[in-house]
Amino acid sequence: MAVNRTPLIAGNWKMNLDHLQSIAFVQKLAWSLRDAKHDYSEVEVAVFPPFTDLRSVQTLVTADKLDLRYGGQDLSEHDSGAYTGEVSGAFLAALDCRYVIIGHSERRQYHGETDELIARKTVAALRHGLVPVVCVGETAEDLEKHGPSAVPVAQLGVVLAALEADADVVVAYEPVWAIGSGQAATPEQAQQVCGALRASIAEALGDEAAARTRILYGGSVKAANIAGFMKHKDVDGALVGGASLDVGEFASIARFP
Ligand code: PGA
Repeated sequence: MAVNRTPLIAGNWKMNLDHLQSIAFVQKLAWSLRDAKHDYSEVEVAVFPPFTDLRSVQTLVTADKLDLRYGGQDLSEHDSGAYTGEVSGAFLAALDCRYVIIGHSERRQYHGETDELIARKTVAALRHGLVPVVCVGETAEDLEKHGPSAVPVAQLGVVLAALEADADVVVAYEPVWAIGSGQAATPEQAQQVCGALRASIAEALGDEAAARTRILYGGSVKAANIAGFMKHKDVDGALVGGASLDVGEFASIARFP
C-alpha cells in the first residue's frame, strides 16, 4: 500500500442478499464501522450488491448520509436499447453508484466474457462517470503453463489499449484458483503480480497513471490475512467475496491497519 493511494476494501456479494437483506446488512455495517470510528478518508469501503438491491442501498446511504460507496457487479457495453436483461451504466450512475465490477472471473467463465468485451464495458463505465473495477487473474492451469503474471498482464493489456492516460480505474488481481477456495495467494505472490500489473499500466498509460491507479488483491481474503497483503507496496486493497457477507468479518477487514 502506498501512502498516496487511498486503500479500497470492496465487498462483492455476488448473487447473495435480496433488497431487504441488503438494508439490514448495510445498517449493521455502518454501525459496526461507526463504533470502530472508521475513517473513510483513510480506508474507503464499498459494497457490490445485486442490481435489485441498489435502489435500497442508495436510499439508506442517502438518508443516513453514510460514507459507504457501492456499485454494480457488471454493466452492459451499451447505453440503452433492445438488450434484454442488460443494465446500462447510465442506470447505475442514476443510482449514484461510484463503482462497477467488470470482467469478474465468474462473468468470464459462465458468460463467455472476452478481454475485448471487458475493454468495451470499461469504456462504457467511464462514459457514465463510473469507476470500473477491472478484474484479471489466471487459472491454476495458466499458472502452471505461463507463470504468475503473464495472463493477468495480457488480460489487462487489452483494456489498457482502450483507455486514455487520465482514466480513473481500479484493477483487481484475482487468481481464479484462490477465489472461494479458502486458499489465498501468499502476500508475496499478490505483490509480484500487482507489481507487474502496475508496470504494465506505466508502459501503456505513463508513470502518473501507474502511480495513481489502485490495484486490489482478491481471492479468499479474510480478517486473518488482510494485513499481510496490505503491507506490500503495490497492493492497495482487497476485493472480498465470501467474507464480505459476514458483517463482522467484513468490518474487521476494513479495519486492517
Ligand atoms: P472470495 O471471492 O473472497 O470468496 O474468494 C473473491 C471474488 O470472487 O471477488
